[in-house]
Amino acid sequence: MAILQIRKYPDRVLSTKASEVEDIGGEIVDLANSMLETMYKAPGIGLAAPQVGRSIRLIVFDIGHTEGEPEPHIVVNPVITASEGEDIQEEGCLSLPGIYASVKRAYAVELKGYDLEGREITMQAEGLLARVIQHEVDHLDGKLFVDRMSKVRRNLLLKRYFRNLEK
Ligand code: ZN
Repeated sequence: MAILQIRKYPDRVLSTKASEVEDIGGEIVDLANSMLETMYKAPGIGLAAPQVGRSIRLIVFDIGHTEGEPEPHIVVNPVITASEGEDIQEEGCLSLPGIYASVKRAYAVELKGYDLEGREITMQAEGLLARVIQHEVDHLDGKLFVDRMSKVRRNLLLKRYFRNLEK
């Protein structure tokens, strides 16, 4: 395991649609574990492979460790198969440090994908967990949270982001 470098906007890999993982070998297992380690250290609650420079469909997340017991999730080729309701909450992103904004997302989602043994998994999530899942799956489609708002708000936030970077 290793701490990986987190790519920051406007790195091209962040706006690229990631490819499916074809087979889950040792390299993917190592990458997933390093991603978890990198996420915990950041600290963050989710990380997608493009954020560490790998354009493949792999995400990790854990919302438990901020309040108690770690509950790591690793999902290969994740797909949101159902969503319900609406929820507006503030979000941030390790690839866009220093800026936060409210984003409208589904309140609950169903996620399907594979674990590191290649077994199919299905999970239902709501609230913060559902939000993290939607945020990370967006990364695999080359989408950042600022792409989920009006152009005006997006531009204002990005202006603030670049101003922060100069400091
Ligand atoms: Zn993010």
